[in-house]
Amino acid sequence: RKINIAIDGPSGVGKSSISNRLAEHNHMTHLDTGAMYRCVALAIRQNDVALDDEMALQRLLDTIRISFDGPVVYLNGNDVTEAIKVNEISNFTSKIATIPMVRERMVALQQKATEPKNFIVDGRDIGTTVLPDAEVKIFLSASPKARAERRYNEYVEKGIESDYETIYQDIVARDYQDTHRKVSPLRKADDAIEVDTSDLTIDEVEEVVQDIIDK
Ligand code: C5P
Repeated sequence: RKINIAIDGPSGVGKSSISNRLAEHNHMTHLDTGAMYRCVALAIRQNDVALDDEMALQRLLDTIRISFDGPVVYLNGNDVTEAIKVNEISNFTSKIATIPMVRERMVALQQKATEPKNFIVDGRDIGTTVLPDAEVKIFLSASPKARAERRYNEYVEKGIESDYETIYQDIVARDYQDTHRKVSPLRKADDAIEVDTSDLTIDEVEEVVQDIIDK
């Protein structure tokens, strides 16, 4: 049986990690739609495109090439895996993700890419807009506090200097932007199953979601 699985939820809830594990275990391909929006943000920065310059934005969207090789993300053939993760780009991504022209283009690319099925697609609007007919829809949630703690611990582990309060505020601000924007706000699809991961380890989340897939 060939299916697509939609995984939605707010930033820092662990969508990427869970999607990677599920993809491996189920022999499916992970499509990280957040990385696509991040690539657009980076390209806008690199080319100094003004957000109100529709022609320039259109041209940029017509010419950029985003591709994946496992966890490695390429923008126009260059490895941008690390460059798209820096804080400045994360914040800018939330902003450019509110531009209808950007969303229309990304949604079209995502729908086309997943047509053959067998994809785990993670994002904000997958169950609602990109794949309203996905065979399995999961909505991952976790309190802002739990997500900030996870991100903080991740930074400590990697030896990256960080500040808990700043991380927490960033998460709250991004949640607000993602849930209040006019186009495709972050929301659970009516037929999605919500999994609150606040008190679960990543292994436990994987187990719960795998059970839902296997049903
Ligand atoms: O998932 P990730 O944190 O990489 O996404 C980066 C940003 O891209 C999010 O803050 C969100 O604003 C935007 N995004 C989106 N729709 C998606 C995926 C990501 O608007 N399907």
